[in-house]
Amino acid sequence: MASVEDGPKRTSSLYGRRTALAAPEAQIEALDAVPLASGPSQSGSFHRDLMASGWEAGIQPAPLEIFQINIGKLCNMTCMHCHVDSGPDRVQENMDREAVDACLRAIDHIQAHPLGGGLHTVDLTGGAPELNPHFEYLVDECVARGLHVIDRCNLTILRVKRYRHLPEWFAERGVEVACSLPHYRKMGTDAQRGDGTYGKSIEALKMLNEAGYGQGDPKRVLTLVTNPVGSFLAGNQESLEGEWKEALQRNHGVQFDRLFALNNMPMSRYLEWLIEKGQLEGYMEKLLAAFNPGTIDGLMCRNTVSVGWDGKIYDCDFNQQLEMDAAVPFAHVGDFDLGAWQARTVKTERHCYGCTAGSGSSCGGATA
Ligand code: SF4
Ligand code: SF4
Repeated sequence: MASVEDGPKRTSSLYGRRTALAAPEAQIEALDAVPLASGPSQSGSFHRDLMASGWEAGIQPAPLEIFQINIGKLCNMTCMHCHVDSGPDRVQENMDREAVDACLRAIDHIQAHPLGGGLHTVDLTGGAPELNPHFEYLVDECVARGLHVIDRCNLTILRVKRYRHLPEWFAERGVEVACSLPHYRKMGTDAQRGDGTYGKSIEALKMLNEAGYGQGDPKRVLTLVTNPVGSFLAGNQESLEGEWKEALQRNHGVQFDRLFALNNMPMSRYLEWLIEKGQLEGYMEKLLAAFNPGTIDGLMCRNTVSVGWDGKIYDCDFNQQLEMDAAVPFAHVGDFDLGAWQARTVKTERHCYGCTAGSGSSCGGATA
């Protein structure tokens, strides 16, 4: 097993370094080139493993529940494992007001549609979503529509002066805050996200606790999100949650409500790290060996629509970063049609093994 010291360190964006791997097609090619033969079908083909698992027609949608918006690639951090290739240099890729309003019209369309009654959540991710100039407007509009809002927060942004009001602001609106924290110990977190991240993250968690988060109030839910520091799979979510709650309370007096344990996706900067360390084949073999058909039913691509910063529509945030357009007769959220969305088949490739290994891994945590 790789140690924490071996894990990814903070870097710069692939885009900024103009590396070949910045191109989504180069990432798909790198995954396709890995010699793999394990998994139920012994094929190394996710499509065939799906068919062998009873999903002969591919992954079909469940009722739509979550409208996820990746509002921009701009971030105050540059973590090595980032599947979005975010960073301070990604200033161009940020959703404008026109696209924000197109998202709101699509939400109105879904809520008025006979198939849209299950929509309950708007999930805002990035980059650091708080850096988008329309972030607070979008949150308020979603709350006004009776929707639960999740902000996927990197924690350190809450220590930046301009955003220190957000814990109280979120609390007033019942916004759930889902925060990245690779490990409850300093070494694991700083190894993956950069020196000093852990201390700022603990300070931000205390701010959230002071605003009423993390104490069982359904209007002030504080979720922590962990992913392995190295080339191994996420541990058991339930047992990790107990361990984390005890450790953060004991060491810092910090409380939170629940923990999501996610696998790292073999794409973007984490893919680059795996290649550089010569661990890509080994990691993919681990994912395939742990392929679990029981995870498929709960995958986020079944109940979520993913919208990019430019308003384009995707099956999930991972397909979005690989620029795999959804199989629907429209490309932009401004033309969203729920009937066509529910009739599509989800597009899958080898990166999907990252979601279906072990207990599964989606934006909502384990799926099995
Ligand atoms: S905080 Fe999140 S979005 Fe920003 S670089 Fe790190 S992983 Fe990527
Ligand atoms: S990456 Fe995961 S969520 Fe996206 S299509 Fe593949 S299995 Fe579904």
